[in-house]
Amino acid sequence: MSAEIIAVGTEITSGAKLDTNSQWLSLELAEIGIPVRAHCTIWDDLEEMVAAIRTAAERSDVVLITGGLGPTLDDLTREALARVAGVELELHAPSLEHVKTMFARRNRPMPERNVMQAMFPIGAQPLPNPRGTAPGVWMTVTRSDGKQCRIAAMPGVPSEMKMMYRQQVVPRLDGGGRVIRRARINCFGVGESQAEEMLGELTARGRDPDVGITAHEATITLRITTEGLSAEECREKIERTRNAIINRMGSCVFGSEDEELEHALVRLLNQRRASLSTAESGTGGLLSYKLTGVSGFDTCYKGGVVAPTHAAKRDMLGVDPLMLRSYGDISSEAAEAMARGCRQKFGTNFALAVTEWADFKADDPFAAVPASFVALAGPKVIQVEKVQHFGDPEIAKSRTAKTAMNMLRLHLIGG
Ligand code: ATP
Repeated sequence: MSAEIIAVGTEITSGAKLDTNSQWLSLELAEIGIPVRAHCTIWDDLEEMVAAIRTAAERSDVVLITGGLGPTLDDLTREALARVAGVELELHAPSLEHVKTMFARRNRPMPERNVMQAMFPIGAQPLPNPRGTAPGVWMTVTRSDGKQCRIAAMPGVPSEMKMMYRQQVVPRLDGGGRVIRRARINCFGVGESQAEEMLGELTARGRDPDVGITAHEATITLRITTEGLSAEECREKIERTRNAIINRMGSCVFGSEDEELEHALVRLLNQRRASLSTAESGTGGLLSYKLTGVSGFDTCYKGGVVAPTHAAKRDMLGVDPLMLRSYGDISSEAAEAMARGCRQKFGTNFALAVTEWADFKADDPFAAVPASFVALAGPKVIQVEKVQHFGDPEIAKSRTAKTAMNMLRLHLIGG
């Protein structure tokens, strides 16, 4: 069994909008064991849509279409489906009621053209759309080899499409017999090649589950993928591999799926009923931005200051300008003084501080690699780390903020 996805809309072929629907649907179909053999993006043209749907239906068992279900003249998906099936469009009264209700709820009169959204190819089934006006279309066509192809047309709006796919389309599709499951494990503190070395044969080609490594702004993500006859079988295989990875990577592992370092840190601080404040120079508030984005941050994160100048460091953190002048702004002494001052100012258990770093000199291969210092001050700890900024200057801020959070995370777990 294979599927094919057609994204309809001149908005997409022109480049004004990115087709994220097809990507999402491909991942979802894989989850239920249906491989996707092709994606097609097509503009709002009736003849070409008919041709694209016919081609897809001839070679695939399932065709998912998104877009073109709206009320405007360029929304042609219903008409194209009727042509493919060789039937007329007919009015479906309950769908018309739904469209009218959606307008009434918004206190707006329904334009006559919206009646179009309640028209379906004869023999097709409407797919309810609780989030929008346009119902989807479900129909089956017979291919030239006598087999059936199942077609679902859904709205282009991603939130409407996703809900309709999960509630209406999935129950109508029997899977390809195989289930695919994925999991992600997130690590910090090692590079991609070092992680590969630590994982050894776990990343070998052809291993089941497959373990892939990707890096994003110094965070290493290990992606586990497996296939099986049931979700339970996949879950067991993934758990065994997850445990093997945690054994090898140790305290580098901080979370799974969408979890970032700030989520792990806020969770640990809250578990230990500990408080944190931050003082930033080179990261311009990024640490604070990341921490305040985590739900539940306010029980542990008490505040932060951005102090790029000597005056700000003196006035807000009590850092001695003479010390800064003798050691420099970019020094372990400056980082330590900022962390100590911050902890005192906010009265928190812990404080993290980040210094500036020198500009990147991309055109001078002999220039020194810029470095910043991050410091942690706590009840029984003063710790400073040097962060060197290789590669893309754009990710330096993120890497520095993450290094600071990771330092406290490791301290809290005793690593
Ligand atoms: P509506 O009833 O809202 O008109 P529709 O089925 O006609 O729904 P379109 O008009 O084709 O959908 O698209 C509506 C919006 O949905 C687009 O402006 C675009 O923002 C988004 N959209 C459409 N297709 C895609 C796609 N393939 N990927 C991501 N977003 C999309």
